[in-house]
Amino acid sequence: MQTILAVDDAKDTLMLLEFDLQAEGYQVVTTNDGLSALSRMEHGDIDLVLLDLYMPDFSGLQTLQAIRENADFVNVPVVMLSASDDEDEIVEALELGAHDYVTKPYIAKVLLARIRNALRLRENSLKLENLAHKDHLTELNNKGHFEELANKSISHMSRQKESIAIAMVDIDHFKNVNDTYGHDAGDNVLSFVAKLLEKSFRDYDIVGRVGGEEFAVCMPHTENQDAFNACERFRKKLANAIIPIGEELSISVTTSIGVTSGNSANGEFDFKQLMHTADEALYEAKATSRNVTISHFSAMLNEEQSEVTNASSTEESQPTESVSMSNLDSESFTDSDASVSNASVSLEDFTTEDVKMTEVNSVEMDGIDYQIGVGNVLGDDDLFREILQMFHDDHHQDGEKIQQAITSEDYAQVKSVVHTLKGVSSSIGAMELFEQTKLLDIAINQYDADNYQRLFENVSFQLTRVISTIKKELNI
Ligand code: GH3
Ligand code: MG
Ligand code: MG
Repeated sequence: MQTILAVDDAKDTLMLLEFDLQAEGYQVVTTNDGLSALSRMEHGDIDLVLLDLYMPDFSGLQTLQAIRENADFVNVPVVMLSASDDEDEIVEALELGAHDYVTKPYIAKVLLARIRNALRLRENSLKLENLAHKDHLTELNNKGHFEELANKSISHMSRQKESIAIAMVDIDHFKNVNDTYGHDAGDNVLSFVAKLLEKSFRDYDIVGRVGGEEFAVCMPHTENQDAFNACERFRKKLANAIIPIGEELSISVTTSIGVTSGNSANGEFDFKQLMHTADEALYEAKATSRNVTISHFSAMLNEEQSEVTNASSTEESQPTESVSMSNLDSESFTDSDASVSNASVSLEDFTTEDVKMTEVNSVEMDGIDYQIGVGNVLGDDDLFREILQMFHDDHHQDGEKIQQAITSEDYAQVKSVVHTLKGVSSSIGAMELFEQTKLLDIAINQYDADNYQRLFENVSFQLTRVISTIKKELNI
């Protein structure tokens, strides 16, 4: 299930959103302000953010900017939700990296279509990114991506004065496999070796296919001896494995491994230098006996080397442990894209008319267009009444609040109250109130203070009308 984070300072808008999104099968989490949204996103489970543009204190644009500046959130699309039709703000949001915007009053079908679009684009870009980073045959990191990841990790470890190891792994006499059993059999072997590499090393080690039958492993936080031991464990496991390559045919292969490490004892180190040293060690492994791990680092390992070389020619000539391809398969190659929606929705398919035409028994409410209000909650009259109650509780004193703020020239407060009122009035279908708050909102955006009082009086009149309708309807 995909999770959407809805951020809005108006509780009733959040309730509407929650209802519409849950009805569509999304998991919804909500926050009332931008800063809590950012900390909620740290959990890492958010697939999309619906972000109100106007919020007091930390605005939607500030929140958006903070989201876009955080590398952990690069793949999380943000759809702005705004009662503002200030084109400049919308353009600014798009320039800051919003994927789309929807104006309030929103039409549920259109909002949902836009969300689906944004999520689909995200899936596609993740897939493309994956394609660009993975080797097709083995699904390991390809050479370029391995280098990028290992490079980053190595400079990080170098700065932290921590150790890191690099191993180069090359299949022995692989050409013979192709020549004897065919190219497909060779491919099977490559996939098998790749799976076993992934299984043998730790989750945070970086494994890549860096050549035809050549692999590399980068092991952060690893001393030379531990890296050597890890390589040896892998080498022995593979040498003992039986690899099915056809109906009734299995073979075994061996690898030669060159390993090195960098740590604070040998000063600064970098990617190129470590790769080069590991390559030299591999070359030496090929030149000596193959099926061996050679470390180019400490003198102590010379003993290990001879021990290992001996071992490889005796105990491993008979497989002692069998690793089957199917055991390995069960954990990988699963396509996790089942949730990608195939439905392509064109936004032009929907018009306001479509939604308004949803058959609902009409109820006359002075100052409130019941069809629009109840339509916003897909015709659920009970929920609509709950929202009206909430509107009453939160906004029946907005008139006094605005008047006070105008009198004391606290224009930030005027803007805050008016803007929220504009958004929620459209949600409940109080369209005349919406029109009047919109005019006042525009005047505020243009700093047209001379007209605040006059425009406010129209807002106040409509608000009184809507509140008294709600009182009558709900017997408050
Ligand atoms: P050495 O022990 O010295 O490493 O010998 P080798 O035969 O493994 O090495 P060599 O470099 O001579 O041959 C590598 C072979 O790997 C030749 C090439 O056809 C094969 N190869 C490279 N990429 C692929 C691939 O994607 N699939 C298959 N099946 N074979 C590949
Ligand atoms: Mg080879
Ligand atoms: Mg090779």
